Amino acid sequence: MKVSAYKMGKPFLAMFWLYTLTAYKYKKFKRRALRLNRPFSSGTCFLAQEKRSAVNTMETIPNFDEIAMLADQFSRSYPYEILAWAALHFGIGLVMSTGFGPEGIVILHILNRIAPETTVFYLDTDLFFPETYALRDKLELHFGMKFHRVTSTLSLDQQNAQDGPELWSREPDRCCHLRKVEPLRAYLQTKQAWITSIRRDQTRQRASARVVEWDATNSLIKLNPLVNWSNDQVWNYLYYFGLPHNELHHKGYPSIGCTHCTQPVSQGADPRSGRWKGHQKVECGIHFQNA
Ligand code: SF4
Repeated sequence: MKVSAYKMGKPFLAMFWLYTLTAYKYKKFKRRALRLNRPFSSGTCFLAQEKRSAVNTMETIPNFDEIAMLADQFSRSYPYEILAWAALHFGIGLVMSTGFGPEGIVILHILNRIAPETTVFYLDTDLFFPETYALRDKLELHFGMKFHRVTSTLSLDQQNAQDGPELWSREPDRCCHLRKVEPLRAYLQTKQAWITSIRRDQTRQRASARVVEWDATNSLIKLNPLVNWSNDQVWNYLYYFGLPHNELHHKGYPSIGCTHCTQPVSQGADPRSGRWKGHQKVECGIHFQNA
């Protein structure tokens, strides 16, 4: 059968246009990434994993003006844009923390699409609900990744021996310090930037959080890509993409921490009012800044 030159040329023509379009989009993305990268001294962007490992910690220390400029620049950006910039700029120096809350799952979903090699860690107090550990396993399967476990150097038995039993009921600040704040500080020592899931309307302490901040306590950049989001936006996202979430949310637990410090709340109550009930405490302390 005779095939006309026109018919034979069609697939090549389609491939040519596909290549041209892809190259154009890549160049456009690269230009934008470099432009956003400009405020920092490094000026180097790496996409490939082997090149990302070459990012040097000392090359990318920003000054406060640069951080403020980035916070303004990204103040109305969609999380995809913020996270893509962070992955390009910080490479393997970028990590994400999660307590497996709904906000963290939104960020995980985005990271999984644009920078799946980013390390995601959780602070395991050894006191999570079984439902939370079950969700961790489910998320690992869903996203095809493994969470990095960060934990206190003190086991619960050692803590009991050192500070007495049930420290959380007597001195929850100290308990959080030993099981969350100190392990976080130790882990972040070698990192350049960490991603958190905080939103401004969660607590009074978070009301002034910005998209990009200097974390003075841990001496690195802190990125809060969902800082402007509402609770409804987060849940709409989870339902839209059919993402797994903690089943305790459907049993009256809008905010979930350790078993001893989390109780269900009634409909319409402050979502965090079930945390550290009977204490003034509303934050575990990992987001507090040294003066
Ligand atoms: S949330 Fe409660 S049990 Fe968990 S580390 Fe803090 S005080 Fe301890």
